[in-house]
Amino acid sequence: MSKTVTLPLSYKRLYELAYAALGDATPLGADCGQLCGAACCRVEEEITGMYLFPEENVMLRDLPSYMKLYDTDFEYDYGRYADLITCDGHCERERRPLACRIFPLTPYLREDGGCEIIIDPRGKGICPLARAMTVEDLEPGFVDGVRRASNILLKNKQARLFIEKLSRQFDELKL
Ligand code: SF4
Ligand code: SF4
Repeated sequence: MSKTVTLPLSYKRLYELAYAALGDATPLGADCGQLCGAACCRVEEEITGMYLFPEENVMLRDLPSYMKLYDTDFEYDYGRYADLITCDGHCERERRPLACRIFPLTPYLREDGGCEIIIDPRGKGICPLARAMTVEDLEPGFVDGVRRASNILLKNKQARLFIEKLSRQFDELKL
C-alpha cells in the first residue's frame, strides 16, 4: 500500500491559507477607518510600518511602487531578521500584509506555549479600538479568523519563533 507523505507547506501556501482563514473579516461590523481617519494607514514623517511575518515577502513579488521593504534588527531566530514594510497610506486590499489584516489583534504565545489572541500593545498609541476595547468587544468573526490564521502559522517553525519573540517583547511592554 502506498504511503502518504505530508510535505511541509511552502511559505506561499502557508500565507495563502492564513489569508484565506481571515477572509474579509474586519474588526468591527462597520468600517472602523471612519472612526479614526484610518490612523493605522496614515503615513508619518519617520519610517513606520509593519513587520512582515517570516518569508511573507513571497506574497509580495512584484512589490507595488507604493510599498517599500526595509531590513530591521528584530532577530526572531539565529541570523534571521524580520523585514519591515511601509506604504504610502493606500493599497490594494489583496496586497495587504498579514500584520495589516489582523491589526489591532495579534497572536500572543505564553511562556507555557499556549496561544492567545490579544489586542496588539503596539497599536495602543494609534488605534482607538486598541485603546478602548477588549478582544471580546470586536467582531467575533474577525477574532475567530485571526485565531484560525494564527493556528495555521504556529505550525511553521519560523513563524512560531517570530510570534514567540514578539510575545516576549509584548511582555516587556507590560501587557
Ligand atoms: S487605527 Fe484601528 S480603528 Fe482605525 S482603521 Fe486602523 S484598525 Fe480601524
Ligand atoms: S499596506 Fe494597506 S492596510 Fe497596511 S498600512 Fe498600508 S495602506 Fe494600510
